[in-house]
Amino acid sequence: HKQVFAFQEGHAQMLHLLGGKGANLAEMVRLGLPVPPGFTVTTEACRDFYEQGGMTSEDLRAQISTALKQLEIEKGQHFGDSRNPLLVSVRSGSVTSMPGMMDTVLNLGLNDETVQGLANHTHNPRFAYDCYRRFIQMYGNVVLNIEAYHFERLLHELKQQEGTELDQSISVEGWKRLIASYKECILQKTKRVFPQDVNEQLFLAVEAVFRSWHNPRAQIYRRVHHIPDHQGTAVNIQSMVFGNMGDDSGTGVIFSRNPSNGENVLFGEYLVNAQGEDVVAGVRTPMPIATLASEMPAVYDHLFSVAKQLERHYKDMQDIEFTVENGKLYLLQTRNGKRNAQAALKIAVDLVSEGSISKEDSLRRIEVGHLDQLLHRGMDESKIKQVLATGLPASPGAATGQVVFDADTAVEWNRMGKPVILARQETTPEDIHGMIASEGVLTSRGGMTSHAAVVARGMGTPCICGCEGIQFTDQEKSMQIAGVVLKEGDWITLDGTTGRVIAGKVPLREAEMTPELTQMLAWADEIRTLQVYTNADNPKDAETARRFGAEGIGLCRTEHMFFAPERLPVVQQMILADNIDDRNRALKLLLPMQQADFEGIFRIMAGLPVTIRLLDPPLHEFLPNLEELLRQVSQLNDEDPETPAKKKELQVLIRKVRLLHETNPMLGQRGCRLGIVYPEIYDMQIEAVFRAADTCMEEGIDVRPELMVPLVGHAAELQLIRERIEDIAKRILGPEKSGLLAYKVGTMIEVPRAALTAKQIVEHADFFSFGTNDLTQMTFGYSRDDAEGKFLTRYIDQKLLPYNPFQVLDTDGVGQLIDLAVAGGRAVKPALKTGICGEHGGDKASILFCQRTGLNYVSCSPFRVPLARIAAAQARL
Ligand code: ADP
Ligand code: MG
Ligand code: MG
Repeated sequence: HKQVFAFQEGHAQMLHLLGGKGANLAEMVRLGLPVPPGFTVTTEACRDFYEQGGMTSEDLRAQISTALKQLEIEKGQHFGDSRNPLLVSVRSGSVTSMPGMMDTVLNLGLNDETVQGLANHTHNPRFAYDCYRRFIQMYGNVVLNIEAYHFERLLHELKQQEGTELDQSISVEGWKRLIASYKECILQKTKRVFPQDVNEQLFLAVEAVFRSWHNPRAQIYRRVHHIPDHQGTAVNIQSMVFGNMGDDSGTGVIFSRNPSNGENVLFGEYLVNAQGEDVVAGVRTPMPIATLASEMPAVYDHLFSVAKQLERHYKDMQDIEFTVENGKLYLLQTRNGKRNAQAALKIAVDLVSEGSISKEDSLRRIEVGHLDQLLHRGMDESKIKQVLATGLPASPGAATGQVVFDADTAVEWNRMGKPVILARQETTPEDIHGMIASEGVLTSRGGMTSHAAVVARGMGTPCICGCEGIQFTDQEKSMQIAGVVLKEGDWITLDGTTGRVIAGKVPLREAEMTPELTQMLAWADEIRTLQVYTNADNPKDAETARRFGAEGIGLCRTEHMFFAPERLPVVQQMILADNIDDRNRALKLLLPMQQADFEGIFRIMAGLPVTIRLLDPPLHEFLPNLEELLRQVSQLNDEDPETPAKKKELQVLIRKVRLLHETNPMLGQRGCRLGIVYPEIYDMQIEAVFRAADTCMEEGIDVRPELMVPLVGHAAELQLIRERIEDIAKRILGPEKSGLLAYKVGTMIEVPRAALTAKQIVEHADFFSFGTNDLTQMTFGYSRDDAEGKFLTRYIDQKLLPYNPFQVLDTDGVGQLIDLAVAGGRAVKPALKTGICGEHGGDKASILFCQRTGLNYVSCSPFRVPLARIAAAQARL
């Protein structure tokens, strides 16, 4: 069974068998490029090695020996020859690139005899002994597991003796002494002499590379990047070329384009008179590649043309390792280069205009998650002085400001023109005005789907959650992180993209819609069929979303309008009212406010649908919590003449809060249930919608309201509310205008029963919008507010669940309900409009699902609209 392939036998498509490095070395040989000859031991051999309990088979050894014979013939040298020895490198090479994670040994085949042969043959003893000391060090480290610092210390001592800092100025005698002390070190640590048998060297090195697949850093890297553990690594055995032969030699790494901005120029570094690992080791400072153009112009030109050729061949930016031996260029590795989001976009767009790839290819290459970086502010990394702590990166982007510890202060300071960061243990809906006023939000509790995280993401406000290192001292208005005390007004900076909490003020960089992003989005729009709406509760968000290309509002949550500080007291009056008259009085005050909200949104969204959800949360969310009220009562001062009145007021509140208390509020009196028990609340909201529509129509604006009823589980609920909507529309608009306004009435499908009875519900619905947050909650039976903190994290850690279903749509379970409801609805109304709103609307995997299911639109937060447009296009590729 063939487990060893000479480079000339392989090609790029053999990636899985030969690993990335081997497959690309083979491909470069096919292209006729100058690659030192060699061969690859397959990943399958590595898997066999592990299956046999860490042993290489006789058969594999025989195949390696045969391939080595061929290599000797090709090179005209012999392995272990005392006159002109063949030296090889033994290099790891996994299927998915894992840069620097596994091991490589250079200059293998040297021993006390062959080193003299190399010295004589090259007439360069200094060089030969330099190679030998490098080899012993790498072999000692990689194969014999001796920590590198032992060797480094000995090298350091030698340099002190020789009075130099530089490798190049060490004499032959110096290297010989170092080699002796290296061998002594190996003898001490392993109780064995350094192996002189070159075949033993080779086979042990191959096994060491196999073993390095399971070294801790490689394991961690695989976990982080979701690379399967069973793949294994290939091993490349390649004849050496020498960058350490003198000043006409060297080694370096280049990118065919700039990986941090995508500019089409060679980018990289090299070192004269050095071997591979020296560039990374940072002992000497490498030269920028541009210098090579003047130092070795012929080599530079050759390298440049090879870089272009490889780029054309692979149709992507390349990351290339090379070595120059006595003025001759050799290529040692090529792969598609890693790049940041901005470079990724620019390169993809440029490759299309250069005719190298199609628009579809370029869209396929965009990593949607990566774009988050671009659409939010960043910071000047060089100005970061101290990272205080790291929490969950809940909402991306950078923010800098003065820290405050309560929402009211945030609002107040913001009015005075101060940028603020709101820091709290956790946030509740009552903090919403403070969150709006803040540049960034920081909490010490809660996960990626906590209130703070969801709301901040929706607003595009940078947010770090669950930063457990923070302690708050409420009375003194201060917090402590990593031993540092921050008082109200102190500057801090948040990086919501990585979760870093940074001390002081760091200069920020604005987010920009680059020309490349605009181009890519235009291509996406040509391809996609899924429409992209946004979730927006106020004119400002609507405007942002429209700028990012939103084609409508898929979810306008009216409750957020109730939390504004000047309204909350009125809302509370309405809730506390004991009789219908009092309630109506409060509602009358709210009506013009709601109307104004809707007018603002209608104007911005002129010509586009605006889906307005009637009030959804349980009423208790608008009241202070019980503990807080009880605390206030206990703190009243009996001497104060106002105390009795205050006490009475508080007691009314307490009674009401107790009355509204529910054991399971998420399954309780909320959504349309609330609208049915308190019809006057919904009536006010409906009236506000139609009054606003009326005003805007008078202004000549094309208004398209779509009223959405939440939490419907039975057709009768929707039927009842729809009738009321139609009555109010007629009453407000009059018979004539109500015919002119093309409004829709629809429902959320978020209770499993609604999905199951879609055929009945659709009789009263013009559209279905899947509220996948609640639908996920009720399908799994997980409380969204508690699950994460309690068991969900454990479930994910233990791999019981592949991911958090509140972040990535559960297509197997929740998805079935969606499919069922779409099918049911369209069986009755074939043209039924369907969409998804909620956290999943901006997630790529979920968008792919929406395309498959045949939904008309996805709705996501404003900052995710561009991502969703691209993901929607990718869903069709
Ligand atoms: P990594 O996967 O960590 O990049 P490599 O196998 O690419 O490890 O080896 C690291 C470096 O060693 C290469 O970039 C190259 O400079 C040097 N190297 C590897 N093989 C050879 C060789 N045959 N001749 C000269 N240098 C080599
Ligand atoms: Mg490499
Ligand atoms: Mg809901």
